[in-house]
Amino acid sequence: MRAGGAVLDHGAQFFTVRSDAFAAFVDELARAELAYEWCRGFEVEDGYPRYAVRGGMDRLAAHLGAGLAGAEGVEVRLGTEVAAVSPGAEGWRVRWPGGQLTAAAVLSTAPVPRSLALLDAGGTELDGGVGPGLRALEYHRVLAVLARLDRPSAVPEPGGRQLSDGLFSFVADNQRKGISAKPAVTLHASHGLSAARWEDDPEATLVDLVAEARPWLGDAAVLDAELVPWRYSGPVEPWPERACAAAVAPGPLVLAGDAFGGPKVEGAFLSGLAAAERLLADG
Ligand SMILES: Cc1cc2nc3c(=O)[nH]c(=O)nc-3n(C[C@H](O)[C@H](O)[C@H](O)COP(=O)(O)OP(=O)(O)OC[C@H]3O[C@@H](n4cnc5c(N)ncnc54)[C@H](O)[C@@H]3O)c2cc1C
Repeated sequence: MRAGGAVLDHGAQFFTVRSDAFAAFVDELARAELAYEWCRGFEVEDGYPRYAVRGGMDRLAAHLGAGLAGAEGVEVRLGTEVAAVSPGAEGWRVRWPGGQLTAAAVLSTAPVPRSLALLDAGGTELDGGVGPGLRALEYHRVLAVLARLDRPSAVPEPGGRQLSDGLFSFVADNQRKGISAKPAVTLHASHGLSAARWEDDPEATLVDLVAEARPWLGDAAVLDAELVPWRYSGPVEPWPERACAAAVAPGPLVLAGDAFGGPKVEGAFLSGLAAAERLLADG
């Protein structure tokens, strides 16, 4: 997110690497001067690199998508919210307000409840067995506070703290982290607090959270602040497989994303790979 010369990561703050496949991808990102090692721990160094993305996490998606637009037979539609996926005689019918297309295969990496809503809206029957489990998947919620400051915050080096108790689960100084030219902080409310305040008036919640954040802000004045609600911030219990075939007719229909096999950025990456393998095998 960009505002008034500041760059703020509002969702994922960093990622770690455990698998060889993700390590190879992160090497590629580092060679492209996109990913960099932010630190090896926050309060205490543990030797494991935490990576961030120059210019903000959203550049990762842009990097992954680069080259798709313009490739033969590929049509990219950004900012298009799909409304329904239904089986048709020629293949899957994918509809959105004002348009539709027919597809031989469908891969949805939206949060599972969103994917299921698309299938339900299209009258798509889920394959035997997977429906009840998918419908039972639950997600954590996170309320994120983004604030631009008139001077550096009090978040200590390396510009981040992971907190196991208290009102916030993570606090980050985006400038100290190295992605923002201007002072700006991101604070994630804990799962418990986020759930408790989810239905409250957002403006009142923002005022309260900014007041609670004061120890992390030091003597900086808040220039402006925003509350970002993340309804699907990560699965409470991930699905046991990396990807899930939800239907086979009129073509493969695969669900993937961070709810499958393991959460976080690396989990989403590995799920995407598994989904691609599944589509190639079934398609
Ligand atoms: C507050 C927060 C903090 C986090 N911190 C970390 C962290 O520090 N480290 C880490 O590794 N991970 C972190 N995560 C988790 C990480 O962001 C996710 O695991 C990862 O982004 C999941 O990727 P994904 O592709 O599965 O889903 P998403 O990133 O959620 O992408 C799903 C996409 O589907 C789109 N979509 C949904 N419905 C539709 C529709 N109907 N039509 C079209 N598109 C649709 C959405 O717009 C979205 O772009 C954090 C997440 C949150 C919310």
